[in-house]
Amino acid sequence: MAHRDWRHEAECRKTSLPDMFFPDARQAEYAKAYCRACPVAEQCLRYALDERLDEGVYGGLTEAERRRIHRRNTPGSTPGSNRGKKKEGAA
Ligand code: SF4
Repeated sequence: MAHRDWRHEAECRKTSLPDMFFPDARQAEYAKAYCRACPVAEQCLRYALDERLDEGVYGGLTEAERRRIHRRNTPGSTPGSNRGKKKEGAA
């Protein structure tokens, strides 16, 4: 059976408001609500962490929340080194 890309199952594909995944603080809560119902949230978060995506909500976490994970997991790292890398395909 062919592997189906996890992004095809993404809950955020159902919204016509993709900008809410690059939100201000208020919009972040709306985006996170989609993520909480998303069957591929774990894969999405892993992708964002692995790729060090530094903008937008992925896997239910904002960029600031993901940076905290990187800081915890990478002693001596410099958060924000990949600033500006854009989201591809998940939304
Ligand atoms: S951003 Fe990721 S976790 Fe959130 S709805 Fe989209 S694919 Fe799912």
